[in-house]
Amino acid sequence: MKSIPFIVLILSLGLNACGQQSTSVKEEKKDSTMATFEVVKSESEWKSQLDDEQFRVLRQKGTEAPFSGKYYYENDQGVYCCAGCNNPLFKSDTKFDAGCGWPSFYEPITPTAVKENKDISHGMVRTEVVCGKCGGHLGHVFNDSPEQPTGLRYCINSVSIDLDKKEDK
Ligand SMILES: [Zn+2]
Repeated sequence: MKSIPFIVLILSLGLNACGQQSTSVKEEKKDSTMATFEVVKSESEWKSQLDDEQFRVLRQKGTEAPFSGKYYYENDQGVYCCAGCNNPLFKSDTKFDAGCGWPSFYEPITPTAVKENKDISHGMVRTEVVCGKCGGHLGHVFNDSPEQPTGLRYCINSVSIDLDKKEDK
């Protein structure tokens, strides 16, 4: 019978093809959260600089309890800066009461002050907002505030920011 060696040949070709395919699939995964930042510190350096709650939110992407943050009801004028690296993030003029329990802003102080990452944790698709200088987690941005000039709500943890108050003269 001539057909048996022929079948063996086809099978071995098929196996080779599969073998080649599996090796060519090896590609390095690129992660947008691996972006490089101007301020880079080790986790232990951050831990010694920040208090426990700041470390949990800024460096471990935690969330403070709603209505608990020190800036939720804040109305003083000034610039909100990153609690990790002092990078100016939001102007008090753009803060509004969204009723959500966290300080909310409709736009960052400059387009590069913050960076945005897709966040698919907790079974939701959200846009995470991080500091543009140190990558510290600030909160999330939502496109659900049509009454605001940008339509956006930057929902930010109070512990991630420090208000640099304007001095009235
Ligand atoms: Zn920062």
